[in-house]
Amino acid sequence: MLELKNIRKEFDGTTILKDISLDIHQGEVVVLVGPSGCGKSTLLRCINGLEHIQSGEIYLKGDLISNQVKNMHLVRQKIGMVFQSYDLFPHMTILDNIILGPVKSQHRDKKEVIREAEELLKRVGLQDKRDAYPRQLSGGQKQRVAIVRALCMQPEIMLFDEVTAALDPEMVREVLDVMLELAKEGSTMVIVTHEMQFARAVADRVVFIDQGEIIEESSPAQFFSCPTTERAQKFLNIFE
Ligand code: ATP
Ligand code: MG
Repeated sequence: MLELKNIRKEFDGTTILKDISLDIHQGEVVVLVGPSGCGKSTLLRCINGLEHIQSGEIYLKGDLISNQVKNMHLVRQKIGMVFQSYDLFPHMTILDNIILGPVKSQHRDKKEVIREAEELLKRVGLQDKRDAYPRQLSGGQKQRVAIVRALCMQPEIMLFDEVTAALDPEMVREVLDVMLELAKEGSTMVIVTHEMQFARAVADRVVFIDQGEIIEESSPAQFFSCPTTERAQKFLNIFE
């Protein structure tokens, strides 16, 4: 589904990602963990074309998507991304925020998109917020809207970069529950998180990155109970 082959990424002559290779299968949930600054966000940004890579290739369903200039907007429609900050348009209602991309960029039928948006809002428990504005929502609610907005583009794969990091603790759960639900329904997802219990629950596979390299790659049971490298053990000790 998504294939990363020997990715190398540099910033100003410094190598940030070294020879990253990773295959993500349809319906698989891969969780990326690792110390701050190890390159997790950069890797996600390379996947959805926000960063140029120095070498290697990225394929989505067999199509080369790395370092493409021409059709990148089309590729990005197939890759949903949700960040820490939700970036909803403040002057637009929740519904208008959600349908903007599908209607304006994908030229889909507005009525059909509205129906889908309403269905998605219902799934995340926000059907009554359709006509509200972002400022009227809590952080957790806004983040759920951001997830719905990405889903409404009908992406092949969803990337999540620490989506709960900026939330108050009591709102973290409601957002993680939405992601768990998506995972159960078979969405293909790459998740960066520092929530280790959640990682363990949601992941099909855990990928541990340190200093721009994949150090360990295993099932959550294996990774969290008996990581094989000292670096992973040290990293996990922080969360004990
Ligand atoms: P965190 O857990 O803190 O979010 P991360 O694993 O997501 O960390 P990245 O944001 O990918 O880490 O950063 C990896 C490295 O790349 C860091 O050393 C960072 O300083 C560097 N870096 C990231 N973006 C840029 C940039 N635009 N220009 C130069 N260096 C950058
Ligand atoms: Mg990051």
